[in-house]
Amino acid sequence: MCTTKATFNEFVFSAMPGFDEASFRKLFAQAINLKTIVIHCFDPRAAEIPEVVARHFPGEIYPGENVIDEAGNRVGHTRTLFPISVAGGRAVAGLQSISTMEHLFGLENVVVVHHSFCGATSFTTDGMLGAFKHEHGVDISSEYDRGSISISDFNSSLEYDVALVRASPGVPRHVNVYGFFYNIDTGELTEVVRDLARTEAA
Ligand SMILES: [Zn+2]
Repeated sequence: MCTTKATFNEFVFSAMPGFDEASFRKLFAQAINLKTIVIHCFDPRAAEIPEVVARHFPGEIYPGENVIDEAGNRVGHTRTLFPISVAGGRAVAGLQSISTMEHLFGLENVVVVHHSFCGATSFTTDGMLGAFKHEHGVDISSEYDRGSISISDFNSSLEYDVALVRASPGVPRHVNVYGFFYNIDTGELTEVVRDLARTEAA
């Protein structure tokens, strides 16, 4: 491993003199008006998904723009919808981000989007695990959640991912969770699953 000797500590909030965690959290919550996290596939043919979802939900701003202070520093952003792009748009890869974003900014919605002719539909989970064993000599079957690897049916994969998000203790109960199918050729976005916020009475 090679590591440069510079520490870059002047760019670390928590390394600043007089740093106070609670005050910074308040400042962060003001700097970004986060409403929605969109988990989608990083397939470049599906790159417009965040924009399409932003048009679907009223009041969302994407891509938005930087908020600049008098000194010219970037101190915030007008974006309300934050994308997480991962293989297949599988929700498991977004859970840590959801918890972090809830802590810093708070959020209202988690939207999972799977798309037509996704690479994740071109193999089976057993096929991928077997190939990895054969080609790299390692068994990665216990590394990942089996249901979160390949996609063989979009209703099932979206239901699975919405349930996974809902079941995660790191996702607050007040969050609405949606699963959408996106057709990359027609641009049509279809809601498949909706699991709205849990109230205390529910
Ligand atoms: Zn894909």
